[in-house]
Amino acid sequence: MTQTTFSATATRVASEASDFARARRSMAGGVSSPVRAGTAVGGAPPVIARARGSRIFDAEDREYIDYLCAYGPVLLGHADERIAAAVDRACRQGAVLGGTHSEEIRLAERLGEAMPSMQRVRFVSTGTEACASAVRVARAFTGRPKIVRFAGNYHGHSDAMIFNAGAASNSRADARAGITQGVAGDVIALPYDDLQTLGAALSREGDRVAAVILEPVVGNMGLVLPSDGYLSGVRSLATRHGALLIFDEVITGFRLGLGGAQELFGVKPDVTCVGKVLGGGLPIAAFGGRADVMAVLAPDGHVFQGGTFSGNPVCVAAAHALLDAIESDPLFYNRLSAKGSRLARGARHALADAGLDFPVVQLGSIVDFMFRHGGAHRTFDEAKQADARSYARYYWAMLERGVFLPPSQMEVMFLTAAHSDEDIDRTVDAMRNALLALAEGADASRP
Ligand code: PMP
Repeated sequence: MTQTTFSATATRVASEASDFARARRSMAGGVSSPVRAGTAVGGAPPVIARARGSRIFDAEDREYIDYLCAYGPVLLGHADERIAAAVDRACRQGAVLGGTHSEEIRLAERLGEAMPSMQRVRFVSTGTEACASAVRVARAFTGRPKIVRFAGNYHGHSDAMIFNAGAASNSRADARAGITQGVAGDVIALPYDDLQTLGAALSREGDRVAAVILEPVVGNMGLVLPSDGYLSGVRSLATRHGALLIFDEVITGFRLGLGGAQELFGVKPDVTCVGKVLGGGLPIAAFGGRADVMAVLAPDGHVFQGGTFSGNPVCVAAAHALLDAIESDPLFYNRLSAKGSRLARGARHALADAGLDFPVVQLGSIVDFMFRHGGAHRTFDEAKQADARSYARYYWAMLERGVFLPPSQMEVMFLTAAHSDEDIDRTVDAMRNALLALAEGADASRP
């Protein structure tokens, strides 16, 4: 790398630092969500101005190929015209109505068709709400207090979900701050992909467990695919002990296919949570499942759950536009998966060229590798063994080369329909150069 690049980096670091310093004066920690502060990579990522297609632009109009994709929602590409037009139309007909509306009913029907396990759905605005509500429903339905979840899975930031969870929620050791012992005591957090510990915990406490909640494919401790038979094993154990099975498909729903991970792996949960991709970039999420389970919700039952913006017409219109776009192209998911395979293949070559044997994991349009030798990691403990300093150096080296990655190794790379083969090939070249530069110790790294 040349001297010019180093000085350009220094200028950029200074200007980004001042943008971020300004953010810190008015916004708590300078961010609306902690991972965005870049703690895991030793400094704040660029302040963003706009995005289009596969590209994101910083406040100084520098262009990057985006693989963060807003942590998953962007599937068609940024600023997709079809979504924009639908949103525009909906805004002009009333952005929020305060009553059930026809397009909302139609969306519920479409969700039920895509994922038949969702016999009844309720719309919310975020994945956090969907998961927290699903858990409350499970407790009310079973009359039991406890929840089993898996370390390194992330189900939003509600009290019961946030400690020992994956993604950036783990950036601080005291992740239980603000959470009562009572709440923590009702959560059993186990290692993912391990039927033995689950079986043992359910044998011990099964009659007090309302639900087992998990990401069927985990996207919050890097990418972890379930071992053969794991999901069906969890299904049988939950059934045997009278606990509901909740699939958190907030990442996988509509990204792996219209039917999500449950269709791909052929395992039927009692309740499902979806979000992210569903809104085509707008905040809409839903939870839904067996009709008898969902019947505990008010007004039919006694569990209160609601929201001013739940099912609002703007987000609903965006969701319809997204589903229309997907359904109009029978090869949509094949094409998307082909892009994922191309990126994964390229990443494997780039790593090999740099003399590194880190396993690359891919499912459809999700691609990931961690700075960790050996087989693909399966648990949160293994994910935490990955070399954080090297990832930080790699992150900045890739940014320097025009590629926007997640600012934490616990997050994964997402592709969209807007990523071209050329984008992917450029990315792979950047990976190769960045990894080789790292190996030679000549990268532009942050403190
Ligand atoms: N579940 C999963 C699997 C997620 O990845 C996330 C967000 N990263 C959530 C739930 C929470 O969604 P939201 O950020 O919309 O509240």
